Amino acid sequence: MVSALKIAIIGSGTAGLASAAYLRQEGHNPEIYERFDEPKPLGAGLLLQPTGLACLARLGLDHKAIEYGATIHNIYGKTLNNNVIFDISYSDLKPHYFGVGIHRGSLFTLLYEEALRLNIPIHTGYEIKGTFCQNDKRYIIDKSGKSYGPYDLVIDAGGMRSSLRRHGHIRLDKPYPYGAIWGVLDDPDQAFGKDYLQQRYDSAHIMVGMLAIGRAPDCPTPKCTFFWSLPPGGYEDWIEHGLDHWKETVTGYWPELAPFMDQFKSTDDLTHAQYSDIIMKRWHEDKLVFIGDAAHNTSPQLGQGANLGLADAFILSQILSQYHDVNQALYAYNKARKNHIYFYQIASRWLTPFFQSHNKLAGFIRDTSFGKLCKMPYIKTEMLRTLSGIKTGLFTHMNPGQWHPRYDLDSPSTDNQPSYLTNNPKKGK
Ligand SMILES: Cc1cc2nc3c(=O)[nH]c(=O)nc-3n(C[C@H](O)[C@H](O)[C@H](O)COP(=O)(O)OP(=O)(O)OC[C@H]3O[C@@H](n4cnc5c(N)ncnc54)[C@H](O)[C@@H]3O)c2cc1C
Repeated sequence: MVSALKIAIIGSGTAGLASAAYLRQEGHNPEIYERFDEPKPLGAGLLLQPTGLACLARLGLDHKAIEYGATIHNIYGKTLNNNVIFDISYSDLKPHYFGVGIHRGSLFTLLYEEALRLNIPIHTGYEIKGTFCQNDKRYIIDKSGKSYGPYDLVIDAGGMRSSLRRHGHIRLDKPYPYGAIWGVLDDPDQAFGKDYLQQRYDSAHIMVGMLAIGRAPDCPTPKCTFFWSLPPGGYEDWIEHGLDHWKETVTGYWPELAPFMDQFKSTDDLTHAQYSDIIMKRWHEDKLVFIGDAAHNTSPQLGQGANLGLADAFILSQILSQYHDVNQALYAYNKARKNHIYFYQIASRWLTPFFQSHNKLAGFIRDTSFGKLCKMPYIKTEMLRTLSGIKTGLFTHMNPGQWHPRYDLDSPSTDNQPSYLTNNPKKGK
C-alpha cells in the first residue's frame, strides 16, 4: 500500500466531491477548498451514462441516483416537419443499459453527503488563485495571497474557469458561439418526460430539449430539465425582449410545451450556460493535476461532461494507489485517460455545429442523413456506444464493467439490481 497522501482538491462540484470520496476510500487524506460560502450545485439537470453510473456504483451511490432520478431509455429528436433525426434506445445496445436524468441538486446532495460521511474537510469561502512548489510539496494560494499546505498533491476540479490552468497548459481554449438557457419544470403526471430525452430542431439554429430528471432532494414532484439553444448575443436579446414573446416562440416550435412554459415566471428561473472547448496539452505537472471541466470543458451536446469528471476522479484514485511516486502516477493517469477524453472532445466539437450554429448546410446534412444513419446497424451501435460514454476512439470502446460489474457490457452482475431496471420500455412517439 502506498502511504497516505495529503491532498488539496479545488472545487466541490461533481468531480471534486467524487474525487475526495474515492481518495478517502483508498486511504488518503483529501480536503476540499470551495470558493462559495456554502457548497451548492449550479444549473438544472443532466444525464448520467452507464460510465458515470459505474463510477457512482464504486461509492455505492448508483442506486440512490437511480431512485432520485429518472431512468432514461430512449433519445428522440425531430424537426418541425416531423423528420425524425434520432430515435434510439440504450436497450438496442444492451438490454440492461440505460441513462439516468438527474437534478443537479440530487447528484450534488448524494456526493456531498458521502463526503461528509467520510469526514472529508470542506473549507468554504476559499477562492484559490494560485499554486507553487517548495521542498517537493505543493501549496495553494487564495485570493488574499495566503498560502495553504504543504500537500503531496493538488487536484484542480474548479470547473471550466479554472484559475490554476495557465497559458502554457493549453492547446485550445475557444468559446462556442452558441450557448443555452436551461431550467427545471414540474411534471407531476410525468405526462411529458418519462423515459425520454426529447429534442426538437429547426435547421441548426433552433434546438429545444426536455429531459426527465426525477425529483429534487427537497421535493417529491417529478421534474424535467428544459433546454433552449441561444445564438451569439442571444442571451442579451432574450432578457431584453421578455419572457412572453419567447414563450410564444418556444410553443410555436413545440406546442405540447405550452402548459409547462407558464411555470417560468421570470428570466431568473432559467440559467444561462456558455461553454468552451478547452483542450490541454496534458493534465498534470509537478504534483498538480486537472480533472473534470477544469481539464476538458466542451459543449454538452453529447451529455458527457459530468460522466467524464466522475471517471477522471475514480481512475485518478486507482492509479495513485498503484505508484509510490506521485508524479509517475500522474503521468500514468494522463496516459490512461487520454483516449476516452479526446474522443469525446473531438466528437462534441464535430457534432455541435449540426445542432447549434447558423450553418444551414449543417442543418440540411443532419436532416437528410442522421435519421437514415440511425437505422443502419453499425452506425446505430456506434451512436449508442458514443451516447453511453464508452467510446475511446473511432473504432474502439471500453467496458464500464472494469469499473463496476453491474455495468458490464456483456455479463452484468444482477446483485441488488432494482427490478424496475429489468424492464426497458421502448415506446413510439
Ligand atoms: C447546458 C449544459 C448541459 C449539460 N448536460 C450534461 C449532461 O447531460 N451530462 C453530463 O455528464 N454533463 C453535462 N454537462 C456538463 C457538466 O455540467 C459538467 O461537465 C460538470 O458539471 C463539470 O463538473 P466539475 O466538477 O468538473 O465542475 P463544476 O461543476 O463547474 O464545479 C467546479 C466547482 O469548483 C468551484 N470553484 C471554481 N473555481 C474555484 C476557485 N478558484 N477556488 C475554489 N473553488 C472554485 C466552483 O464553485 C464549483 O463548486 C452539461 C453542461 C451544460 C452547460
